[in-house]
Amino acid sequence: MNKSHPTKENQPEDIVFRPKNFEEYIGQNTIVSNLKISMEASIQRKQPIEHILLFGPPGLGKTSLASVIANELNSNIIRTTATSIKRIIDLFSIIMSLDTMDILFIDEVHRLDKRVEEALYSVMEDYSIQIVRGSGKNIKAMTIPCNPFTLIGATTRAGLLSKPFRDRFGHSFAFEYYHIDELITVIRRLAPKLDIQIEEPEAEEIAKRSRGTPRIAIHLLKRVSDFSLVKKQKTISMKILLDAFDTLKIDQIGLSELDRKYLKILFLKSGRPIGIDTICAILSDDRTTLEEVTEPYLLSINFIEKTNRGRVITREGLHYLKEKQVLVNNEELLF
Ligand code: ADP
Repeated sequence: MNKSHPTKENQPEDIVFRPKNFEEYIGQNTIVSNLKISMEASIQRKQPIEHILLFGPPGLGKTSLASVIANELNSNIIRTTATSIKRIIDLFSIIMSLDTMDILFIDEVHRLDKRVEEALYSVMEDYSIQIVRGSGKNIKAMTIPCNPFTLIGATTRAGLLSKPFRDRFGHSFAFEYYHIDELITVIRRLAPKLDIQIEEPEAEEIAKRSRGTPRIAIHLLKRVSDFSLVKKQKTISMKILLDAFDTLKIDQIGLSELDRKYLKILFLKSGRPIGIDTICAILSDDRTTLEEVTEPYLLSINFIEKTNRGRVITREGLHYLKEKQVLVNNEELLF
């Protein structure tokens, strides 16, 4: 059951593609099995499940999992993002609209305004809103109870959350990149919804380029489907698929031009650490994309290392650049 709040979920495409229950939700087995136990306990106690923090890179299924939890518990879910809760009053009006056992999903929870975050503490702890009016001798504090609910916070940057905030979540789950076979399942289940057919080997080629991320797998499947449609083919062929990736400049392990440029910058520093601001300036790219998408994946495949003085390329990263012939002898910074 969904209460309407303006977020990405309201886009019709997302509603079609998002898994609706645990049956449709692929992978993240440890998280799912832990959740199932807590959800069962909450049903038996007739109390809302404790607040849940979901963290990990974008596109790994945090928002989808929040929907699945709500559907499985037959609860309403109210979705919002931290940046749209600008003032404490905005927060309180959402909280007071919640019914018992509702789920409040806040995306990008690390971006909550500090005062709003602190106002949330007593709500999370004992389901009460603390209102302080006046100042000095005339100060008055009021406590208003609200309905017991579950907060699900999602973040790509758990490290930016304050300790008191983190401590108020009863569950904290770290998302992992998906295995190839899980991504193949995502791709093959989704293809019919895009009115296209795909066999196992082609699905595997897409999965290998998806950086362990379902959202990327879906995005690539859509792009390859476009190529097939233009060629008037209802089944994705290996040739069309490889041509498509050539055109999109995405290689066999899913790295793009941006990843290669990023690695090349580190290489050209000859192993000396380089700060993220310098990399952003050279690439003229958005820092959030680099920090939340590019770097976590390059770290996960061991192509870069983060030290406290900056980023460095690893032996594996260097090997990749040489293999791809991205480097020419004594090359200067050409981009
Ligand atoms: P996040 O909130 O972590 O950025 P989303 O939940 O928005 O990620 O996931 C992006 C898309 O990937 C969803 O629309 C959904 O179709 C698909 N997806 C993500 N995780 C799964 C999963 N475990 N099983 C099936 N599809 C998934």
